[in-house]
Amino acid sequence: MQPIQPPIAAEYLQADERTLVARIQARKKELGSKLLILGHHYQQEAVFQCADMAGDSLKLARQAAEAREAEYIVFCGVHFMAESADILTDGDKAVFLPHLQAGCPMADMATVAEVAEAWQELAQVCDVERVVPVTYVNSSAAIKAFVGERGGSVCTSSNAERVLAWALARGDKMFFFPDEHLGRNSAKALGLADDEIVIWQRGKPLGGLAAEQIKKARVLLWDGYCEIHMEFSAEQIVQWRQKAPGIKIIIHPESNYAAVSAADQYGSTEAIIAAVKNSKPGSVWAIGTEVNLVNRLRAQHPDKTIHLLAPSACCCKTMALITPASLLWLLDNLAQGKLVNQITVAPEIAKGAKLALDRMLEI
Ligand code: SF4
Repeated sequence: MQPIQPPIAAEYLQADERTLVARIQARKKELGSKLLILGHHYQQEAVFQCADMAGDSLKLARQAAEAREAEYIVFCGVHFMAESADILTDGDKAVFLPHLQAGCPMADMATVAEVAEAWQELAQVCDVERVVPVTYVNSSAAIKAFVGERGGSVCTSSNAERVLAWALARGDKMFFFPDEHLGRNSAKALGLADDEIVIWQRGKPLGGLAAEQIKKARVLLWDGYCEIHMEFSAEQIVQWRQKAPGIKIIIHPESNYAAVSAADQYGSTEAIIAAVKNSKPGSVWAIGTEVNLVNRLRAQHPDKTIHLLAPSACCCKTMALITPASLLWLLDNLAQGKLVNQITVAPEIAKGAKLALDRMLEI
């Protein structure tokens, strides 16, 4: 069930961006080292500028864990990221999300009840002791715990291939949640054949698969997806190559396999940032990822030409719920000692989820 966001007063919603940002900066000064604001790369610019640290979800969660003095960690990202930060930080830090409806629709496509049911069904046709579950970091803490308790691991878009190789060496099969596309792209990069990879369709008995298909498969993919990264296609890549010969195409691996195979490079947000940064002046890029990051890269590299791969905006609507208004509303509450929008993971779930996160770090 989606948590309910307390109302944000009109005073915040009607104020102009400059005023809000100035008031956020004043609150930051007042709260000093007690406060740490983390900004995900997909945040809108006005929020991103207020962050003390920027990064992808796991990098930020780790930074939260390493911040010694901070008592309040404000995560400008989505719900699962704040959960990861709460799991990795010790008990004297509290983690907050400026808007409680800022969830990740892809993470929400795999609930722990659905995954547990699928696991039980799987046990009817194969030995689940030989199936290694792996979850993308974009998943709820409860899914991470489910995976951790069954000997599996978390992965990120940077290390998915390594974690998949580990899982396949450890068991006969791997069950990957919740992103079908990151799972397929990583499995294909490891050289798996199409008939070794099957899709588990949510809500269908045995995931819509025949028992024989499951027995033969090495990789089972939950059918979740990121609607933002599904906007990119191989056709767009062909069009860019015709329009701008020599253009370099880089895409996030949450995109479909046809687009990822047609691109020059694929990689996590951090890999995309590094590729653009390290390219020669005058380079021309089309980038397949969230529009706020693409716009920021364009502004940071005026010596390069940077396009969004798709013609449409590709904006993550839930990330966009974090605004200067919701951030200031949260900071004003914290300054008055009111701990609104705190994200806490129950200790028994945090324990299982940490197992899966720690396993990834070992791999
Ligand atoms: S961009 Fe996609 S994966 Fe990332 S938070 Fe938004 S919906 Fe989730």
